[in-house]
Amino acid sequence: MSSDSVRTVVLATANLDKAAELRRLLGALEGLRLVSRPADVPEVPEEAETLVGNARAKASALASATGLAALADDTGLFVDALGGAPGVRAARFAGAGATYTDNVARLLSELGDTENRAASFRTVALLRWPDGRERFVEGVLAGRILRSPRGTSGFGYDPVFAPLGGDGRSLAELAPEEKDACSHRAAAVAGVARLLALP
Ligand code: IMP
Repeated sequence: MSSDSVRTVVLATANLDKAAELRRLLGALEGLRLVSRPADVPEVPEEAETLVGNARAKASALASATGLAALADDTGLFVDALGGAPGVRAARFAGAGATYTDNVARLLSELGDTENRAASFRTVALLRWPDGRERFVEGVLAGRILRSPRGTSGFGYDPVFAPLGGDGRSLAELAPEEKDACSHRAAAVAGVARLLALP
């Protein structure tokens, strides 16, 4: 393969869990070189009202700082019975600096005994080039919120989210490759591979 056919993309995320999933999902693509976010680029606040807006802010910052194409993803958890909350604010549902455990506790307490547990994860993956061109794709995973956390793999809300059409296990009870076979992030990344015209 000539070096011309290798595309270099910098990952915009500062979240190590998400970077690990993206590397796992994109690592198998031939012709793609992934670069980690340089430590000296300041973290971009997620202040937009939409997943696309947040992904754009993160990707733009990294494309400008590095001169490389940048890939940013932004994920929200949309719970029907909560009118779509926490939505784009999933990372700070229990307040600024909240841990994954705090956010899960807040979610379970807001839902209480509610029968309607329908929810979806939505991920926007956005590629932005230094000249300002951009393309984005969305991946969705429908499921339901469990009544208590189960499982230890994954991250974030995985212990309380069971995918629709699955066998009832939470995302945190799935092996990483099982999560990759159904996840919102995997669907978005498959779209990114198409955008980059990679196999
Ligand atoms: P972000 O805005 O894409 O960083 O994601 C916001 C928050 O959503 C994260 O801090 C996690 O709590 C949660 N989240 C994102 N992706 C996942 C996932 O794949 N599983 C469970 N929770 C996730």
